Amino acid sequence: MNNIELDKNYVANTYARFPVEISHGKGSLMYSPDGKEYIDLGSGIGVTAFGAADEKWVEAVTAQLGKVQHTSNLYYTEPCAVLAKTLCERTGMKKVFFANSGAEANECAIKVARKYAADKKGKDYNVIVTLKNSFHGRTLTTLAATGQDKFHELFQPLTGGFVHATANDIESVKTAVKDNKVCAIMIECVQGEGGVIALDKDFVQGIKEICDKEDILFVVDEVQTGNGRTGELYAYMNYGVKPDVVTTAKGLGGGLPIGCCMMNDKTQNVLGFGDHGSTYGGNPVCAAGAISVIDRIDAKLLDEVKAKSKYIFDTLSSAKGVVSVSGMGLMVGIKTERAAKDVIAECMDNGVLCLSAKDKVRLLPALNIPMETLKKAIEIIKTACAK
Ligand SMILES: *Cc1c(COP(=O)(O)O)cnc(C)c1O
Repeated sequence: MNNIELDKNYVANTYARFPVEISHGKGSLMYSPDGKEYIDLGSGIGVTAFGAADEKWVEAVTAQLGKVQHTSNLYYTEPCAVLAKTLCERTGMKKVFFANSGAEANECAIKVARKYAADKKGKDYNVIVTLKNSFHGRTLTTLAATGQDKFHELFQPLTGGFVHATANDIESVKTAVKDNKVCAIMIECVQGEGGVIALDKDFVQGIKEICDKEDILFVVDEVQTGNGRTGELYAYMNYGVKPDVVTTAKGLGGGLPIGCCMMNDKTQNVLGFGDHGSTYGGNPVCAAGAISVIDRIDAKLLDEVKAKSKYIFDTLSSAKGVVSVSGMGLMVGIKTERAAKDVIAECMDNGVLCLSAKDKVRLLPALNIPMETLKKAIEIIKTACAK
């Protein structure tokens, strides 16, 4: 059996994979074993922030691999400590808990929210308001947080204590807060899986006001939007707000699993000894890779992200067969006249890998994709949309 047949036989049927095997890559180029070259506009769902086998990232990771690959959290290690300091200095947050994925980062945020309210108001203040059409992960608790019924149906009962308000409708958030004993409001500033939809600035600022007034935690899920993706280090920075808790993962590790829950001055001491933990969390190899990622997301790189974003929006917004372009930075959703899956399949045949989100073509290219490579790929998408 070849690898595709082996996978179909032995790997659980949870993924509708594209009919492509990737054997290696370099930057924004990916290769299948038969030598076919692809321009990668998905970066492993926004994970490989600097592309495949990026030299500086490989160097940082392999240097740590040669020292020690894991110690458990019973001991101190430099990469974990330095990464936490770097993240706090870049965001103004005060403390960081490391996990291994986005869902786990959100689990931590949920625990922080419940304990914060339990300490201050009482254990019955345990409800978290999230938004319809959101996505917060695949564990039973983060699925409950996710405001999309299609993810819930088969897995009842989910963790209780989540209510879903309507995005960009501040009255619906106010009602949810009035009708429930709420400990937190959790949002993605740009809904990713929900169709690459940026929330309105007024709405996000309105949520922050409610949170401050009611002493409710404002939690921002930056698992997809974080780490330079939207043209700022974290997406909330586009909105002029300061969250109480920020979660991130995906691009942070640059390709190795790491998740992170950042807490501000109000929430930094909510979790105490034994309240939370993770065997792998803050693993030195993953942390070393993450430091190299964060250190390279500077003003110059963010300007390049914004310039590439502008190019994509300008080129595709008026293109034939394109209904609309949404998103922020290098997180882009394209509503097409043709079915998105047909556009994606044709792009793949022509050597461009795209993602989907709901009924849209979704692009999450590496932050450092060369402009020439991006232009080539966008032309291929444009041609596919026009058919
Ligand atoms: C991908 C994603 C998650 C889940 O992350 P995993 O690493 O797959 O657990 C959570 N929230 C958002 C916004 C995401 O995009």
